[in-house]
Amino acid sequence: MTLPIDKILQSLESVKRTGTGKWQTRCPAHDDRRPSLSVRETEDGTVLLHCFAGCGAQEITSALGLGLADLFPGDRYSVTNAKPMRRTVDYKSALLGIHTEAVVVASAAVALANGEELDDSGVERLLTAEQRISDAISVAGGAL
Ligand SMILES: [Zn+2]
Repeated sequence: MTLPIDKILQSLESVKRTGTGKWQTRCPAHDDRRPSLSVRETEDGTVLLHCFAGCGAQEITSALGLGLADLFPGDRYSVTNAKPMRRTVDYKSALLGIHTEAVVVASAAVALANGEELDDSGVERLLTAEQRISDAISVAGGAL
């Protein structure tokens, strides 16, 4: 079985090795005068392509007569595709957002404890707080 990295490196011209698992070459997908394509091999054998001019992996592989699946070892590509896409979650922002909503709820609790009444917009704001916290949970991949 040919490794993805071998397949890619064989198809490219004048590849220069720049480090362990790293290469630099001219991008086949655009009129490249200096080497703007960086090629990396990850630990699991997947090949990462990055063109500094902005060509996508799809364009680069097809310029080589290959497909995106050729960047992945074995049947990894189909397995990868079968899995639901995971969104990158910014947990810090999510937690800060939840904290803001907690402050809103706490101030309402203090107001109520002091005998104040919540008007419609106050109630509305508390419902919004609950909604925003639910949204944060679903962004983090959780279900209620
Ligand atoms: Zn390019």
